[in-house]
Amino acid sequence: MPPSPPNQNGRYDPQQRLEFLGAFGQKRLRNSRIAIVGCGALGSHLASTLGRMGVGCLTLIDRDFVEWSNLSRQVLFDESDARDSQPKVYAAARALTRINSEIEIRPRAIDLDHDNISVILEDHDLVLDGTDNFSTRYLINEWSQKFRVPWIHAAVLGTFGQILPILPGETACYRCFLPTPPLPGQFETCDTAGVLGLTVASVAAAQACEAIKLLLGRKEEIRKGLTLLESWQGSVQILSVPVRPQCPTCSQHQYPFLDGTEGQTATTLCGRNAVQVKAPKGTQLDLDQLADRLAALGPVKLNPFFLRVHLDPVELSIFPDGRVLVHGTDDTGQARNIVSRTLGS
Ligand SMILES: [Zn+2]
Repeated sequence: MPPSPPNQNGRYDPQQRLEFLGAFGQKRLRNSRIAIVGCGALGSHLASTLGRMGVGCLTLIDRDFVEWSNLSRQVLFDESDARDSQPKVYAAARALTRINSEIEIRPRAIDLDHDNISVILEDHDLVLDGTDNFSTRYLINEWSQKFRVPWIHAAVLGTFGQILPILPGETACYRCFLPTPPLPGQFETCDTAGVLGLTVASVAAAQACEAIKLLLGRKEEIRKGLTLLESWQGSVQILSVPVRPQCPTCSQHQYPFLDGTEGQTATTLCGRNAVQVKAPKGTQLDLDQLADRLAALGPVKLNPFFLRVHLDPVELSIFPDGRVLVHGTDDTGQARNIVSRTLGS
């Protein structure tokens, strides 16, 4: 079936009245393809906003299922999705189709990794970060630099958020901004520190705004730097992020996350109802410090060899080299998801 012309029924009239958008801009949005990696808090806000605005094709990528704890901030899901533990991308696609049936929505219930990223992200104009972990961000960054496709990083924690547009060949890349991949558990996550849904909405709106500028071809208006936002007191700062001349990714074109030599790997342990998630080589964790942080999530046991934390219905055994055994599941995607939420890696 041929696509319907943009702005049937005057749906887009209010935004088309804006001088910088107009009917021509609407057509550009209609012909654009965006991939949203992570369909949780940021991802569902992004998909809702961009779908309503008429971006022609949205690919939604997420390995997770809807839970009750998502409903306070993940706008495309409802109680029936949580009750039925629906895969997030299918629940989101259903909701988006009710919002705008004129756009194409491609749900991908997968764990984005070095094996599948090039196939999944092929032919997209832009990638938006809605992930909750560093490994996937380095992976997207390397793919973006190799194939010269822009992406917009964003993250939220507590009442703070940040946005960084990354345009290959024009701005600093994610590795220029964060040269050393953080250790598992080095930073707080939304599970350990909490998150305000209102902050998510502000960050997603700012991220979507940069996305629209890019799709409209208004590159000169993009905020080329790190936008830091705090939504409770209400402050916004923009910091410049310089390109690092020796950056392994954008300067030396080394892609270890894309090659699969760095980053997490998850393997099902046969007959044990457990998954092993390995950290990058050379990882050394401070288990004492980690035990203090994880105590907020569930009962913790620490011995000289490993740290064990019970997160109903699974249990994690975390070793000093960053290896994590997730007991109580044989689903590698679910195990990686739990490790991301707990350790941010
Ligand atoms: Zn770089």
